[in-house]
Amino acid sequence: MTDLIDSQLTGRPEKGPTALDCVICGHVPAAEVSFYRHVGLVLYVRFNRIQGPFCRDCGLARMRDATAETMISGLWSPVSVVLAPLAIVRNVLGRRTVLALDKPVPRPGQPESNLAPLPPARPVLRRFKAWFAPAVLATVIAVLTFADLPSAEKLDVVNGCVTFDNILYADTADFVRCDEKHDAVITSIEASWQDCDGPYLEKLYRYYCLAPAPGAPALVNVP
Ligand SMILES: [Zn+2]
Repeated sequence: MTDLIDSQLTGRPEKGPTALDCVICGHVPAAEVSFYRHVGLVLYVRFNRIQGPFCRDCGLARMRDATAETMISGLWSPVSVVLAPLAIVRNVLGRRTVLALDKPVPRPGQPESNLAPLPPARPVLRRFKAWFAPAVLATVIAVLTFADLPSAEKLDVVNGCVTFDNILYADTADFVRCDEKHDAVITSIEASWQDCDGPYLEKLYRYYCLAPAPGAPALVNVP
């Protein structure tokens, strides 16, 4: 046991009598590697570590299952934005580690175990659900973005409308839709206040020349 820990601490290659056994099938060689599975369903959030050591075949199978589960059920909570990519990236790195191992064999000199390495699971990208869930998410995001377009309507345009705070300082003006209550209409947009004949509003170094809205009192500009 001491030898085993030593080899892990010193990072010596896991070869020879101190090598690790696969935690699932007991074969060698195995690498100290963990895979991660994230489940994020609105308020139900889990992040599991599936700890090795794993031989090449068991590691690959575990990695594929954990990654596919993350892609299917790990995209549906706010924290999934961080946790799902974290799990996937760590799994891809762990996959590289187990694929670098030789074919698993029973430890020499030991009675052969009746456990066999796990059969290779179906690759993640060949699983329909692993594509389907992200595709659904992408569609939802696209629909929401598209549905949001009216509220993202550009208001700071010529003939757009402006409302002032009660104090009537131009600095506290907001662009609004013209079917809402408004105080002024944008007559032109200039690069300098001097190009405005009358009152104007400055935002981000753009100068919005203004005319009073019908029925509104004359505008007072406070530069
Ligand atoms: Zn194994």
